[in-house]
Amino acid sequence: MINRPADYQKAIEFHGHCCPGLTIGYLAAKAAIERLDVTRSEDEELVAIVESDGCGIDAVQVLLGCTIGKGNLIFKDHGKQAYTIGNRQTGKAVRIVMTGEVIPLSAEQDKLKRAVFGGEATAEQEGAWHKIQEERTARMLATPFADLFKIVDVELKLPSEAKIFNSVICAYCGEKVMEARARLQDGKIACLACTEDYSRGW
Ligand SMILES: [Zn+2]
Ligand SMILES: [Zn+2]
Repeated sequence: MINRPADYQKAIEFHGHCCPGLTIGYLAAKAAIERLDVTRSEDEELVAIVESDGCGIDAVQVLLGCTIGKGNLIFKDHGKQAYTIGNRQTGKAVRIVMTGEVIPLSAEQDKLKRAVFGGEATAEQEGAWHKIQEERTARMLATPFADLFKIVDVELKLPSEAKIFNSVICAYCGEKVMEARARLQDGKIACLACTEDYSRGW
């Protein structure tokens, strides 16, 4: 039985597996909690701006209580392992960027990984892969924040708290759509799914 911190275990249960990506998000969230001196967000006190949609985001949701549903998790598709966490009550924010290296895989371990992700691994290979991930993440957990991340206090204009909008009915599909997302098409209300895309490419 592996002895894991309770909040780390919770993140693994939410995410579905234990992996380095999740662990980065977990450690980034821990670093933010320490730097901002906060606890998990019950409502929308904390806001997280994440710059990738990888495994780590699930740990941010579990640890910080920043979720898409509450409107205090903002995703920017920048492809960076970067997390900006802000506290609405104090106006303090911190940006945490992954700068360290995830422990690389040996050629043999990489072969094993391919077999597992390709769906052709034996039960034995699956077990071996999980053990490797376990060891890699355990080493990450034992690494000081400063060796993994660049952590800087930032000045941040936080978005306003989530608003509740009126709904209107799309004239094309008959489904309800938030007013702020509705369009007009041939003079009639249209949802985005029913709107023909018009773009000049920028
Ligand atoms: Zn994962
Ligand atoms: Zn529609």
